[in-house]
Amino acid sequence: MKYCTNCGEALDDAARFCSRCGSPTEPYSKTYVPPSAPAARTDVLDTLSKVFMIIGCVITSLWLIPLCWCVPMTVSLVNKLNRRQTITTGFKVCTLLFVSLVAGILLLCRDESRYGASGGR
Ligand SMILES: [Zn+2]
Repeated sequence: MKYCTNCGEALDDAARFCSRCGSPTEPYSKTYVPPSAPAARTDVLDTLSKVFMIIGCVITSLWLIPLCWCVPMTVSLVNKLNRRQTITTGFKVCTLLFVSLVAGILLLCRDESRYGASGGR
């Protein structure tokens, strides 16, 4: 659903002209943001974070006991990254301390404002 930029009439998404005032509609609403370079960069950060989480798991698995939290944390993190959900700072710090220093730093560099808030539109 989109709205006429002139009179505010609710229009069909396919409509090219307003049914009430006849003014042409824009192809996309003004809130539409095309995929851009920063998004791709964030995806790279996400991927790197996953890789380093898994590497962290492998390294800590040498001590066996840390696997109790490393594996669940990695699974949880990968799920959140795949669903593009926000990750809390607490989780990031725990990742940094207990799983992988590099993955933690990468996660802290992640711009959370890109996620969560944009999901509702
Ligand atoms: Zn109109």
